[in-house]
Amino acid sequence: MGRSKSPVRVITAVVAMAALVLAGCTKPGPSLRPTATTNPPGVFGPGADGLGDTYYPKAGNGGYDVANYDLDLKYDPPTDTLTGTATITATATADLSRFNLDFTGLKTEKVTVNDVDAAAEQSGAELVVTPATGIATGAQFVVKVTYGGVPKAFDEPGLGEIGFLHTDDGAVAIGEPEVASSWFPVNDHPRDKATYTVKIAAPEGLAALSNGAMKDKRSAGGWTTWTWSETKPMAPYLATVVIGKYRVKESTHDGKPMVIAVDTSLSAQVDAQMAQTPEVIDFLESKFGPYPFDALGGIVIDDRRVRFALENQSRPIYSSAFFEAGEDGTWVIVHELAHQWYGDSVAVNEWKEIWLNEGFASYAEWLWFEDKGEQTAQQTFDNSYAPADAEMWRVPPGDPGKSDLFHESVYTRGAMTLHALRVTVGDDAFFKILKAWAAEKAHSNATTPEFIALAERISGKQLDQLFDDWLYGEKRPPRPRR
Ligand SMILES: [Zn+2]
Repeated sequence: MGRSKSPVRVITAVVAMAALVLAGCTKPGPSLRPTATTNPPGVFGPGADGLGDTYYPKAGNGGYDVANYDLDLKYDPPTDTLTGTATITATATADLSRFNLDFTGLKTEKVTVNDVDAAAEQSGAELVVTPATGIATGAQFVVKVTYGGVPKAFDEPGLGEIGFLHTDDGAVAIGEPEVASSWFPVNDHPRDKATYTVKIAAPEGLAALSNGAMKDKRSAGGWTTWTWSETKPMAPYLATVVIGKYRVKESTHDGKPMVIAVDTSLSAQVDAQMAQTPEVIDFLESKFGPYPFDALGGIVIDDRRVRFALENQSRPIYSSAFFEAGEDGTWVIVHELAHQWYGDSVAVNEWKEIWLNEGFASYAEWLWFEDKGEQTAQQTFDNSYAPADAEMWRVPPGDPGKSDLFHESVYTRGAMTLHALRVTVGDDAFFKILKAWAAEKAHSNATTPEFIALAERISGKQLDQLFDDWLYGEKRPPRPRR
């Protein structure tokens, strides 16, 4: 637990690296399930090719709701070839003549629906599937897609290269907001959460890691197949596979399986920093309520292209950049683990409301340093409030614009929004609000208006003006007052 940074240095680091840190999620309450398709009753028509997200209208698809993905994959590092079968169990939410999956960069070999051959056509980032017979509203169906090829990385503004990235000895699937469709066919929007089983074969001697608990690991013919199970609903972008030479440590915390993996090229001081994971989880539970998932851990990768961390469900992925050369990466561990509550369990319903992920995870850092006696949240707020000409005053965190999805405003001004709420309603009401948000919206998707309504209900105060100023204003808001 080396904590060599002065408080000011910590904050500088947070601000400088804020753009590097990802978070994320959505809320699918029953009323918000994927429904962008509205064919008249009894008329079988095509499912929509997008869910209508304001920033990413083609992300996800309409007409069905996925319950489970069963991915059976094999990755060969020397040829960078990924092959496999995705078995997708879904329920129709409209009478469908055909439907889309998001899928790009890999070749589809065969598609069946309920074990009957289906027509499939690749069109841009969409895989259009036409089953032999229509699927009626409410019917459960199983789509099986056999596919393969060399995955293509792509650029995400503000992040750099994301996707299924070929590394020096394996691969890592990482990115936000649209990354899943680069390695498996998927309804690629946080609004359609599902459970996952990921079975991945890699050459013997390499680790093949994913989300949730490890269920099986067996070797044959020079290959080792690792099976992972994520039993709580997960947004697609949080799914991952990480393959390569890793020091994999298996243990338990509070009876739940914990897997921490560190690239073997990194020094033991990285393992020592990652060993704080259970302590950080315990601290966050004291502020936010029970940890929402059935497994935990983290993975530290060593690849020059990835300069961020991501809150992959139950197993965040961290760039080695946060820990190298004696850097204290505790703050980023706090950030990504806080996302397990806010971002992963309580996920966004629209990407424009990403402050619900990043503002909360950033505020968790403030709470950590306050608890450690390094700097109060009020001092952190004051430091960020001081520069009257900061660019974040012009960028509203509640709707930053697609090109500013990871703008500092979303992180720092998002966290300041929560601190302004805390000052206005007092500590008792504020921490009740945080816990209630995690509990009431667990494993679903949520919106900013829902958060404001919750805050008003618990505090008994009228808060429209405060949130208007802090989330949507294009100038520095007035200082909050009790
Ligand atoms: Zn984040």
